[in-house]
Amino acid sequence: MTGRLIVLSNRIPTAGPPSGGLVVAIDELLAERGGLWIGSGDDFVDTPSESLQPIQGGSGYNKAIFDLTEQEHKEFYLGYANSVLWPLCHHRPDLIAFDRRYAESYATVNARVAKMLAEIIAPDDLIWVHDYHFLPLAQELKRLGVSARVGLFLHIPFPTLPDLNALPEREQFYQWLAAFDLVGLQTEADVACCLQCFRAQETGEMLFDGRLKFQDQTFAVRSFPIGIDAKSFFSIAEKPLKDDPLHLRKEDRLILGVDRLDYSKGLTHRVRGFGKWLEKRGAKSPRGTLVQITPPSRELVAAYQDIARELEALVGHFNGRYGELDWTPIRLLEHAVPRETLAPLYRLADIGLVTPLADGMNLVAKEYIAAQDPDDPGVLILSRAAGAAEQMTDALLVNPHDSEEIGDAIERALSMSCDERKARHKALMQVVRDTDIFEWGAGYLDCLERLEIASAGPFDEQGRFCRKSERKSDPTMGEVCRDQSLDHGNPQKIG
Ligand code: UDP
Repeated sequence: MTGRLIVLSNRIPTAGPPSGGLVVAIDELLAERGGLWIGSGDDFVDTPSESLQPIQGGSGYNKAIFDLTEQEHKEFYLGYANSVLWPLCHHRPDLIAFDRRYAESYATVNARVAKMLAEIIAPDDLIWVHDYHFLPLAQELKRLGVSARVGLFLHIPFPTLPDLNALPEREQFYQWLAAFDLVGLQTEADVACCLQCFRAQETGEMLFDGRLKFQDQTFAVRSFPIGIDAKSFFSIAEKPLKDDPLHLRKEDRLILGVDRLDYSKGLTHRVRGFGKWLEKRGAKSPRGTLVQITPPSRELVAAYQDIARELEALVGHFNGRYGELDWTPIRLLEHAVPRETLAPLYRLADIGLVTPLADGMNLVAKEYIAAQDPDDPGVLILSRAAGAAEQMTDALLVNPHDSEEIGDAIERALSMSCDERKARHKALMQVVRDTDIFEWGAGYLDCLERLEIASAGPFDEQGRFCRKSERKSDPTMGEVCRDQSLDHGNPQKIG
């Protein structure tokens, strides 16, 4: 095993025991190896410190924060990260805020964080950078002479080539990524997209060992679909809610949506889809109530400001048109619900309605499956545009733009036999269990560590990295993939 693990993420849990799948997984990996977790502090400062500030909280490892000024929060975080890179990666170049100050602030913060990190990194440490807030970090570290291995995991989708052409800093974007040793993406489709973007560049080339070369940098790009802590989610879901908070009639059906208020989540399209089902619903069909839990997010970003009004108007329209004296078809909650309530709600729901227009993975889809009663499970309706759709092919997959298709999928789910529901749930549960958050974290770090060996293998015939559980030992070749024809879905081939 190499040296310490150093994790960099925008947010760092500062108080209380770790909660939430990703936080628990990173906490466990850090506790096992020892190391340091770095993230931004909660309070803004006038003059940011030039060194990391240790904070309490890590058990068996250390935690530290870096400072941001209020201006940097506006320009680095709300600006470049969430008004440039987020829309870019969610295929909404029309929503990119073209403001050069954002790019400057992004560069300043990344250079400062890299400088502070460079002071504490030892050559055999492993640096794991999370997400789009820190794309220039590896390039900055290399400039400062850091030789330790640096990996990135991008939690959101990879942009397409036409999307990237809309980014003023597209030249740098390629250089940023190429400076990492390993770029981890959510899906095989993201990997295909990334390869296509690099190969379209004059100096981009794919090597025989599957790595990419760009200018003078060689790096690996692999998919590591993120998962959840399925076991713990199942046990929370099993604890019934104290009083019945929904007050539905016994014969009524529950359809549940859970998403941050974000244009990428396809909320208005979803409500229109539910509206289609209401419109077509026969007189004898059961009543279906859509409970949509939608906590607000990034309210200071311009592109987020109209979404709530649009959603409320649409919900009001359908409730007015199809509601009855004792039935409100859509219940919209514009606030967060704790996971202790959410998990049993998932279990009660006949349908989990997950229809984002673009999503890196979508953990709600996996949580919904983990929460079901295997003897009487609900049905997952899942957008083809969610990263989760690449693995969760036994869900009812829909085009999230097509309200007719969403409406038909709701009707199909509500009339599905128990045998079919059970068979679909069993297959989906297998996926959720096999690719849980712990497997994801260990798999990524294992790959980053093994980059020493030129090809960072073993890879299967499709060029996909085999996880530990998928390998066997070969007397001449060392560790190889157990089953060379492992079926990991159908990775898109690049010409
Ligand atoms: N979540 C929650 N309470 C809410 C709404 C969402 O705890 O009221 C959690 C949800 O259980 C999931 C996460 O927020 O773990 C959302 O993750 P996802 O990947 O679906 O979407 P993201 O918000 O990361 O785009």
